[in-house]
Amino acid sequence: MAVLVSGASIAGLSVAYWLDRFGFDVTVVERAPALRVSGSPIDIRGDALQVASAMGIAEKVHDQRVATSGRNAFTTWVDAHGGPIAVLPNEYAADSPDDIEIARDNLIAILHEAIGPGVEFVYNDSIDTVVDTGGEVEVALSSGRSDRYDHVVGADGIHSTVREAVFGPEHQFRRHLDTYTALVDLPLGSGTSGESITFSTPGKMFCINDYVHRTIGFMAVRTPEVDYDNRDLADQKLVLAALLDGEGGWRSDFLMRSIAETDRLYFDSVSQVHMPQWSQGRVVLIGDAAHAASLFSGRGTSLAMIGAHHLATELAATPSEHAEAFGRYEQLMRPRVVTAQEGVSEARDFLVPATESELRSRNERFAVDAAR
Ligand SMILES: Cc1cc2nc3c(=O)[nH]c(=O)nc-3n(C[C@H](O)[C@H](O)[C@H](O)COP(=O)(O)OP(=O)(O)OC[C@H]3O[C@@H](n4cnc5c(N)ncnc54)[C@H](O)[C@@H]3O)c2cc1C
Repeated sequence: MAVLVSGASIAGLSVAYWLDRFGFDVTVVERAPALRVSGSPIDIRGDALQVASAMGIAEKVHDQRVATSGRNAFTTWVDAHGGPIAVLPNEYAADSPDDIEIARDNLIAILHEAIGPGVEFVYNDSIDTVVDTGGEVEVALSSGRSDRYDHVVGADGIHSTVREAVFGPEHQFRRHLDTYTALVDLPLGSGTSGESITFSTPGKMFCINDYVHRTIGFMAVRTPEVDYDNRDLADQKLVLAALLDGEGGWRSDFLMRSIAETDRLYFDSVSQVHMPQWSQGRVVLIGDAAHAASLFSGRGTSLAMIGAHHLATELAATPSEHAEAFGRYEQLMRPRVVTAQEGVSEARDFLVPATESELRSRNERFAVDAAR
């Protein structure tokens, strides 16, 4: 059976691995010209660690966990002059001490390496049209290439093209959580070795995460949805600079300059995706495309890996009864997704308090003196 996977990130690479291993003929189409390797370290938690073991990548993942895995605090909040005022202990941002934090690009490379040579990768291309005839799916790509597949898996993230083409416009399913985030690579050594330091003002967050071998600036801003082209770097920079402007203090000027100078920025709305059903006919969604919990959940990567495993396992169990297989996959994943999506607004309010009084009460709760 031939399957087309749209998106070569955590969900797409994971499902390609499993489908190939179960004997499907797999093609992966990725819109970017190569695997996208930006982003800060991400968490692999709970059952996703078992999935990693079953994929034979647990050892590599463990070996490449980031150097801060043993640090004492998730972040230290500082005042405008860099003086520590509050500390967020690790346990507020983890499910268990066994959680693994790994650079997103390292995980992408590990997943990609694990995939057998039979899987075809098509970069710089995107699904244009999808026609489910009942017996197969006819797909045309933007490059002009067209083909027929038994199934299409949409693993193309929050702004999924497959979801838009088959299930309906994005605004029906994506909920903006009144926040945007940006991540930018900083010169090595521009942070405090192995530590995370954050400066907050009402509705804004400036953070430097130092992972010893890599330093990442992490900004967030509370705002309703903004109109911009999320594939145009210059437009992203313009919008972000306007949103973050006016907050002198600590190292915010340095971070603003880093945004202006970078050619590799991750900037997106903090959103969740809520859909009544993740499959229609022969097309099925996984990962953020189906059920983004937002990066404040810390569980998006684990859900993507677990979901890919369930989907491929169920489809392999009853390949000619895809509706039943997709139904079982959804049943297995729904409770996990509900748990991951709940409580995210609370985490957001906590990390990026919107008002002066929310900011004050958070800082008082985790005051440096109280932590001692
Ligand atoms: C560049 C990048 C950086 C990220 N950084 C972080 C981070 O620092 N922290 C965090 O918590 N989460 C981050 N995320 C999100 C995180 O990877 C996901 O929440 C989670 O791992 C689930 O992954 P996913 O594969 O479902 O979706 P995503 O990781 O969003 O991947 C979607 C993939 O589909 C591709 N794609 C999109 N549209 C098309 C199309 N039309 N045709 C073909 N391919 C398409 C994208 O280029 C991307 O490779 C980042 C995502 C990306 C893409």
